[in-house]
Amino acid sequence: MSYIGRFAPTPSGPLHLGSLLAALASFLDARHAKGRWLVRIEDIDPPRCPTGTTETILRQLDAFGLTWDGPVRHQSERHAAYQAALERLAALGLAYPCSCSRKEWREYAIYPGWCRHGPLHPERSLAWRLRSDLGRRPVEWEDRRLGHQRFDPAELGDVVLKRKDDLWAYQLAVVVDDADQGVSDVVRGADLLDNTPWQRQLQDALGFPVPRYLHLPLVLGDNGQKLSKQNLAPALPTDEAGIRHTLHHALQRLGQQPPREMAHACVADQLDAAINAWRPERLRDMATNEH
Ligand code: GLU
Repeated sequence: MSYIGRFAPTPSGPLHLGSLLAALASFLDARHAKGRWLVRIEDIDPPRCPTGTTETILRQLDAFGLTWDGPVRHQSERHAAYQAALERLAALGLAYPCSCSRKEWREYAIYPGWCRHGPLHPERSLAWRLRSDLGRRPVEWEDRRLGHQRFDPAELGDVVLKRKDDLWAYQLAVVVDDADQGVSDVVRGADLLDNTPWQRQLQDALGFPVPRYLHLPLVLGDNGQKLSKQNLAPALPTDEAGIRHTLHHALQRLGQQPPREMAHACVADQLDAAINAWRPERLRDMATNEH
């Protein structure tokens, strides 16, 4: 199978060390396999995506030498494809409109499926959900780092595909685009692991092929907290020396043991060496960072 990988950032803020590591790992995995590497901007939630952030992210990828193949895809332009997928699911009886608000089912851990046979309040604005109660097969996949993963669909609940405010949900958009772009390998942060069972359900419901998954270990900041925009991960450098240093550090964080003398090498030389030396099994070395 030919390799197609992708980095799919939500442009809610510039890249930080955590998202850079996800981009770098997926890039190295693709280039080591002599595959293609795509960039897809997941801008389906405009209020969360300040103007100019997409350009900033692309500039950051470029500065770190992470060059992508083909044009950048923008999910904000993919409405028709998501609509077609939703209609297919609805025609199969697998998606249904739902009028419930979170407040109404707050006593339950997952949405109890009250609207499965028709919305209780059709006059309200409606979300769309996937039925998880048909076909009781467990949801499974083989994660390249974490091994066999198995979930009971009854514990997943009916995931939202389209929101009440008419915005597409991440789960549907990501599955439609991964399939449409022929993505064979998803390499992304472990913070997205909880989403994968829904994405596997959707792939099965839509008859899509299942990519290989590799969920990276979480990267913790010095304070032991997950690095994210919310807890103010430090900004990535923009100067050449800072970029070289950060790239070397990022390769270390990925457990790749780059030779010390590469720390000051130019970005292209560091990446060439890292592509050759890429050992995803060394990602396990980061496991201590997870605690
Ligand atoms: N857009 C998602 C994020 O930035 C990642 C999607 C994915 O890699 O599946 O968190």
